[in-house]
Amino acid sequence: MKHLLKISAHLTNITDLELDVGVNNTNVGLYWKIQCVGCKHLQTKMITVILDVKWFDMKKAHSNNMMCEVCKRTSAVIVSSGKSIRLTQEHNGIFVPLMEINSNFFEPVECVFSHGWKAETMSGKKMNNIDLSAGEFYDYDVECQCSISATNLKAMFEVMDAKVEGSSAGKHHVWKK
Ligand SMILES: [Zn+2]
Repeated sequence: MKHLLKISAHLTNITDLELDVGVNNTNVGLYWKIQCVGCKHLQTKMITVILDVKWFDMKKAHSNNMMCEVCKRTSAVIVSSGKSIRLTQEHNGIFVPLMEINSNFFEPVECVFSHGWKAETMSGKKMNNIDLSAGEFYDYDVECQCSISATNLKAMFEVMDAKVEGSSAGKHHVWKK
């Protein structure tokens, strides 16, 4: 089963919003919940990306081995940067790919934005460790004397390959903060 995690936002005077992984261990960017396709149990443990690599340099997929908390079935949850695209203002309101999630028995169902994002302002100022846990972000760029923001953050999981018995083929999960 393969899912593409896509995100969208409305950016104002800010560009190239992306995960700021590889800086320190407290940067997580986002989490997501997974559901066992066998017994349908929604796992309490949430998944995030491995943070010791630069996201766009990620040559190899990273794997988390998970065991269902109820039926004890085990499966790897493999995460890769896939066709990851940095969000710009041209993408406002459009879902762009962030990562691919590949697992035999666990389906991603719910995503939570966190801190650990980076972006650039229109004056070229780099911003690190942006916190999107409130579902939006506001700041002021002194150099261009303008307000900057990322609002209306949304995420969705698109089914790329639903080949697993009992999976919810073609089902899209959409939510917003
Ligand atoms: Zn299960």
